[in-house]
Amino acid sequence: MAQIDNLPPLRDVIRTFELDARKSLGQNFLLDLNLTARIARSSGKLEGVTVIEVGPGPGGLTRGLLAEGAAKVVAIEKDRRCIPALEEIAARYPGRLEIIEGDALSVDMAALADGPTRIVANLPYNVGTPLLTGWLEADWPPFWDSLTLMFQKEVAERIVAKAGDKAYGRLSVLASWRTQADIVLDLPPQAFTPPPKVSSAVVHLVPRAEPLACDIKALARVTTAAFGQRRKMLRAALKHLGGDTVALIEEAGLKPTARAEEIPLEGFVSLANIYAAALKG
Ligand code: SAM
Repeated sequence: MAQIDNLPPLRDVIRTFELDARKSLGQNFLLDLNLTARIARSSGKLEGVTVIEVGPGPGGLTRGLLAEGAAKVVAIEKDRRCIPALEEIAARYPGRLEIIEGDALSVDMAALADGPTRIVANLPYNVGTPLLTGWLEADWPPFWDSLTLMFQKEVAERIVAKAGDKAYGRLSVLASWRTQADIVLDLPPQAFTPPPKVSSAVVHLVPRAEPLACDIKALARVTTAAFGQRRKMLRAALKHLGGDTVALIEEAGLKPTARAEEIPLEGFVSLANIYAAALKG
């Protein structure tokens, strides 16, 4: 394995600091520094950029980000055992790596932004999806310039899916409402140590400057109802929203017989706004 810095190979780091992978923390590590540098580059040019990295583990991706020129990396890690390994990297890159020990779900990341800021992470699915939803639903424009996130392939496909795709669902609507989302890299299980059961993919999301005006809470309720019963026609799936379901659907310019998987973003935004107005009305 070619080294991108003069730090020890990651296998040695894991041995030295006894970082045996823990399933409970979703630990599947990337040990190939050429690959982590490639993932770092998939977030764009890093000069002058602050990167918030969630779940650095033994630091493979952290080293990729620093070697590729990130001005500063703020790394948030829940597993205390990883901190000494990360401190070794901080010493190699003086003033450029800040380490925060904690649960990413309860850290105020907006407060960590410093100039142009991106988020890059290789996270377990159970943490990655709530974090992504939180970032997409927050006040707009967001504090980040882009998100570059590793997911199980199947989740990545859901994020980037468009109307008519098999994977199209709530997450696709939310992501396409506020961002342009693309899969930029596919990774087989063998890229990780230990290898997970499924393939993974890196998704890159860039915020839209002017997303369609939409009531977020109503959008969440409408898409939950519609995709909760995705095989049913909208007039049945949206019934428990209350009120005159057919009138709501027709006012949004949609067919009551259509199914959720056929409705493009604009259709859901209309449904959400009309539903929100009816609730207020
Ligand atoms: N970034 C490293 C890599 O690519 O090799 C590690 C990736 S591993 C899939 C996920 C990392 O996220 C682990 O280091 C784990 O301890 C950490 N993690 C899990 N849950 C977390 C949470 N709630 N907050 C912060 N870190 C978390």
